[in-house]
Amino acid sequence: MTKYAFFRGQIVPIEQAKISIMNHAFNYGTGCFEGIRAYWNEQEEQLYVFQMAPHYERLLRSCRLLMISLPYSVEKLGELTVELLRREGFREDAYVRPIAYKASEVIGVRLHNLEDDLAMFAVPFGKYIEKEEGADAAVSSWRRVDDNAVPARGKITGSYVNAAFSKTEAVLNGFDEAIVLTQDGHVSEGSAENFFLVRDGKLITPPVTENILEGITRTIIIQLAREDLGLTVEERPIDRTELYVADEAFFCGTGVQVAAIAHIDRRPVGTGKLGPVVKQIRDLYFAVVRGQVPKYKACCTPVYPK
Ligand code: PMP
Repeated sequence: MTKYAFFRGQIVPIEQAKISIMNHAFNYGTGCFEGIRAYWNEQEEQLYVFQMAPHYERLLRSCRLLMISLPYSVEKLGELTVELLRREGFREDAYVRPIAYKASEVIGVRLHNLEDDLAMFAVPFGKYIEKEEGADAAVSSWRRVDDNAVPARGKITGSYVNAAFSKTEAVLNGFDEAIVLTQDGHVSEGSAENFFLVRDGKLITPPVTENILEGITRTIIIQLAREDLGLTVEERPIDRTELYVADEAFFCGTGVQVAAIAHIDRRPVGTGKLGPVVKQIRDLYFAVVRGQVPKYKACCTPVYPK
């Protein structure tokens, strides 16, 4: 249960963190946000926030796109997060949601001449896709928002209508997740996760110019694959039909973590079971996020004093 929120400059009981129906971001989607996971390490009795600085660096980049200026540095945002999680006292995995938004209560679509604010709350959080062993994905009939319409590189609240269309279409059609194409028909990403496939032992993922969110998980998986697993990683456009000839495929993201894809458009991906490359990546990722790999311990910020 969530007890507190950071709201209008301070930590308050969650019941007091309320915005008006006149709020600009509520009316026009003029906010941007992050999703950050904190992992409970049972052995150390410690809660570790994973990749805090990269998330807040991205939040501030999203803010730049939306012309939101916050009076907080990356470091300060990290301190606020630790303080909020400490107050919650979670002894389980959790998810932190900071959201920067246009707070003015006025009619008028624009980015300029508006007040900005930041809110933050945290919830206990487990798995995101239930079938982590192998999700059933479908190519969406919806296309990804384009950089010249709503930039996907910013984690902008309004653009999540696009994600919602594709996710709901997939689920109503009996799938777990959508694979969304760009306007010119290349693979972009999932509804709220980045996408990788494996061909001949090589990892392939769309480049940041394919209207993807520049995922924090994507970045670390590229690093783990190259430096720790000795894999070749290519960032290049992916054709739709490469989905049908891939050996393995997976989604990755803070929420979904590393989720193997068993079928795409009802066709088995490789054997249709969790493959060896995805398994290797997934196992290493889960050890890294819980602070169990010395090389990556610095990516894990402890919440509780020891
Ligand atoms: N793409 C989209 C559209 C997302 O919403 C997310 C989740 N934040 C991701 C990719 C994965 O990004 P990250 O690894 O930074 O969580």
